[in-house]
Amino acid sequence: MKRLRKVKILATLGPASSEEDMIQKLHEAGADLFRINMSHASHDLMRTLIERIRKVEKRCGRPIGILADLQGPKLRVGKFADGALELVPGQTFTLDKNEKPGDASRVHLPHPEIFEAVEAGHRLLIDDGRLQLRAEKSDGDKIVCTVVSGTKISDRKGVSLPDTTLGVGALTDKDRADLEAVLATDDVDWLALSFIQRPEDLADVRKVARSRVGLMAKIEKPQAIERIDEIIELSDALMVARGDLGVEMPIESVPGLQKQLTRACRKAGKPVVVATQMLESMISAPVPTRAEVSDVATAVFEGADAVMLSAESAAGDYPVEAVSTMASIARKVERDPNYTSIVHAQRSQPEATGADAISLAARQIAETLKLSAIVCYTSSGTTGMRASRERPQVPIIALSPVIQTARRLSVVWGLHCVVTEDARDLDDMVDRACRIAFREEFGKPGDRLIISAGVPLGTPGATNMLRIAYIGSDGMTGI
Ligand code: PGA
Ligand code: MN
Repeated sequence: MKRLRKVKILATLGPASSEEDMIQKLHEAGADLFRINMSHASHDLMRTLIERIRKVEKRCGRPIGILADLQGPKLRVGKFADGALELVPGQTFTLDKNEKPGDASRVHLPHPEIFEAVEAGHRLLIDDGRLQLRAEKSDGDKIVCTVVSGTKISDRKGVSLPDTTLGVGALTDKDRADLEAVLATDDVDWLALSFIQRPEDLADVRKVARSRVGLMAKIEKPQAIERIDEIIELSDALMVARGDLGVEMPIESVPGLQKQLTRACRKAGKPVVVATQMLESMISAPVPTRAEVSDVATAVFEGADAVMLSAESAAGDYPVEAVSTMASIARKVERDPNYTSIVHAQRSQPEATGADAISLAARQIAETLKLSAIVCYTSSGTTGMRASRERPQVPIIALSPVIQTARRLSVVWGLHCVVTEDARDLDDMVDRACRIAFREEFGKPGDRLIISAGVPLGTPGATNMLRIAYIGSDGMTGI
């Protein structure tokens, strides 16, 4: 199955998409990898979903990435005696450590670490900012607030603290338990970390996860933006988590931040996912709005590695339509006459490494000679990611002997990954590349490819060779 686009699609699974046949339909419609949201999935459900995704992968013969998304320190108020109630702007409202049900004057805030961190003047945004409180004083046991705007509050609504740096790490007790369950499956490719604030948050998780999963930092806090360079350095990928980012920061700053983050990731050669509300209206309608189509198109023009669906695929009425709509927007944009020049305007200089010099040369040769594909051998995935960083116009086929690498690369722009044994010698390397390009419909006999590899074969990090080859007349050999 060959995708006719470069940008990847990450689809969240949920009640609307838990069954195997639905997962298969989403994959066929264009989902390259799937997100399991640990805020909602039990460990049993997570394991079941993984099993189902792997069955679909086996049937379709394409590596599929799985991303487990940890909830992180998402703060919520407690419950109310009446479930919900109305407040009046200007009134006093207190958050405290008392577990009894809330009323119009107070409610429980079941996160003791917050009481120390909040200072007078800090904003508390409840329910995605629909209700805004201002802290007047916090004495370690309660936060006395004034209602600034909004009126409604109800059980377990989310609380954002854009002005407060919390003294908590990136992992709650729930996250630690979830992380352990994720690692125990040994079958998850990416781990997304929510609400990280500092580079140390990533370092802490890395100690536990090591290299068993790729770490994707979700950027949804102003504190993370402030230290973004260090965070990118320690992450394997980034998610522009526009949902919470748009609550924690002025909503009008989100488009600029999206550009800043995608550019920084492209420069670093680390995958970046643009997420949230991309086709929001398709939760309940079979067609998107013009504004949504434009939003997806913008991310594609920016050269983002992947675009994500949340409730659209997890809980909406039209999950398959949402994926296929995203795929057709991507195909159309990538064929737009302005696309190449817009994407390439952001292309970064190669770093002074063999892999980058070879990636640049491979792209230039492939584009100059109008070759059918760039084929790269990559065991850790690094060579594949550096080839993608060049954002070439021709397809990139990434060959890896390691299935985990192929799955992890499913989020990377433009890579068509195929699992194959390491080549035995140079002839085998050329034959194998040509045979696979032919089989996967990237070229026909007589078409030319450019192949990059490291010689001696199988030496990690030693990309040092380029070879132009013809697909032989039988499609089975290279010349
Ligand atoms: P979430 O993350 O869907 O887990 O909240 C994405 C976002 O905040 O945009
Ligand atoms: Mn979020």
